[in-house]
Amino acid sequence: MNEVLASTLRKAVYERLDYLDRLVNEADLPSRASLADTEIARLTAAWRTLLANHEPDDRGRCRACGGWRRRRPHPCSVWTTAHKNLIVIDTPSTFTTSRHAAASYLPSAG
Ligand SMILES: [Zn+2]
Repeated sequence: MNEVLASTLRKAVYERLDYLDRLVNEADLPSRASLADTEIARLTAAWRTLLANHEPDDRGRCRACGGWRRRRPHPCSVWTTAHKNLIVIDTPSTFTTSRHAAASYLPSAG
């Protein structure tokens, strides 16, 4: 993908997210309710596609993250971002912005 196309794609995605944010924050209740019928399904499909691309391989490493020599251990940043945004409820006791925050909100093994 060339630089212009990448920039156009990036701009279009951000504009769509801005549009959805405006609807959520400014639209009337019937309009917001209609979002549930269309946009939630699209967003869950997008998350599923993204997460499928970042499933761990048989060695427990992300299939998409990292270079050709060394893939990143699972869960990668895509999975930790999904967990943080889809599962974790931000409260003062769980929300943190530290560099090592990812591991603190992951479910414990077992
Ligand atoms: Zn990944």
